[in-house]
Amino acid sequence: MVNSDPKASSHTPVADFSNTEIAFSHKSDAALRQTSWLFRMMNKSWLVSTGGSFGLWLNSSGIRIFDSLIRSTIFKQFCGGINLEDSTLAIQHLAELNTMTVLDFGAEGKVREIDFDNTLKENLRAIAYASTNPSVPVISSKVTALASNDILKKFQLGQLKTVQEKEAFQRVEERLDKLCHAAWESGVAVFIDAEETWMQETIDYLVLTLMEKYNKERIVVYHTYQMYRKDKLESLKADHMSARDKGYILGAKIVRGAYMEKERERAKEMKYPSPIQNSKADTDRDFDAAIAYCVDHYEEIASCNASHNMKSNLIQAELIASKGLPRDHRHLNFCQLYGMSDHITFNLAAAGYNVAKYLPYGPVKEVLPYLIRRARENSAVTGEMSRELGLIVAEMTRRGMK
Ligand SMILES: Cc1cc2nc3c(=O)[nH]c(=O)nc-3n(C[C@H](O)[C@H](O)[C@H](O)COP(=O)(O)OP(=O)(O)OC[C@H]3O[C@@H](n4cnc5c(N)ncnc54)[C@H](O)[C@@H]3O)c2cc1C
Repeated sequence: MVNSDPKASSHTPVADFSNTEIAFSHKSDAALRQTSWLFRMMNKSWLVSTGGSFGLWLNSSGIRIFDSLIRSTIFKQFCGGINLEDSTLAIQHLAELNTMTVLDFGAEGKVREIDFDNTLKENLRAIAYASTNPSVPVISSKVTALASNDILKKFQLGQLKTVQEKEAFQRVEERLDKLCHAAWESGVAVFIDAEETWMQETIDYLVLTLMEKYNKERIVVYHTYQMYRKDKLESLKADHMSARDKGYILGAKIVRGAYMEKERERAKEMKYPSPIQNSKADTDRDFDAAIAYCVDHYEEIASCNASHNMKSNLIQAELIASKGLPRDHRHLNFCQLYGMSDHITFNLAAAGYNVAKYLPYGPVKEVLPYLIRRARENSAVTGEMSRELGLIVAEMTRRGMK
């Protein structure tokens, strides 16, 4: 915890992540007890493993018998609602805690053109909603929900051969342009997620083009940089230089990266050098260097520190404070996932920083794969408590709850 860091003990911490009172002030005793029960369930790796596979199977079979159970438990913890209107209460609660919302329509793994058009429609609806609500400055979108993986991969390999393939790629460009144009017109920004390396070069190309077009006067489009990749700290710096030359603001959401195992396995199977850092320490080093680089160039780079890592969040908070920059500068942001790391989010918010929650929403069948990933992430392999459960237990003890 922050207070136990010997370096921090000589001065008041800029944000105290050990303060569970602030972290869980929005939860009544009953709600805290319910959350504790849920995280205890997720701590049982056998349950998460069998339940997850069974849930995905039911979902693909179109069987919906468990929807109401899911909605009242894990969905409630990690999602805002089944649609925008249903998410309003969660957005309001966050706003009351000085926390902004990044709307994230939970579509993924789509293959049909009609589904890509539907994602665009939902994203445009989210932009219209955000334009009327100052606590929703950003929406998030995934290129993989607007385009087929196959087309993205083929473009990267220079293998778009047929007229149909070329037209399909053009439609992807058009969808993304419509999205960013609507955001530009409505005073909203868009985060574009980063994906696996075999599609990411295409996404890099698409997003850099959009940033050059829409980020001239203010920040509209944010790219995502995965610091578990050996090459991404350098990409961030090169993109910054290019943005400076071309006269636009670079948008940089900094993450560690979500596809490490997949990336390493594929590299091994296909016998090419792994693009992933050799160790967690290497990823952490580049992540923290990227954060420092963005803060150093905050006038030219609008950044978002998207992480649940306490140390990386504290580093940015301390840099902002030590340089005397406004804590709420619109180019200096933090973001965590809804339902996780409340000790980071709400303590940063209480200390006056710009912080947001990624708020996934959508029908249960759409967000189920996301929910299962969250459950797997929170299931402790070692048999110890997960980080989230440890914090909840600490707060229950502080309140004198049994
Ligand atoms: C708001 C938000 C948006 C996100 N958007 C995206 C996105 O667009 N694309 C995306 O890919 N991910 C995204 N993520 C997920 C992110 O990439 C991380 O997987 C996740 O946040 C865990 O990293 P951390 O910084 O929170 O915490 P930590 O627990 O400190 O770090 C865990 C991460 O470190 C890395 N790591 C772990 N072990 C090793 C190792 N042995 N060697 C090298 N690296 C290692 C992995 O990336 C792992 O996920 C997002 C996360 C958040 C909070």
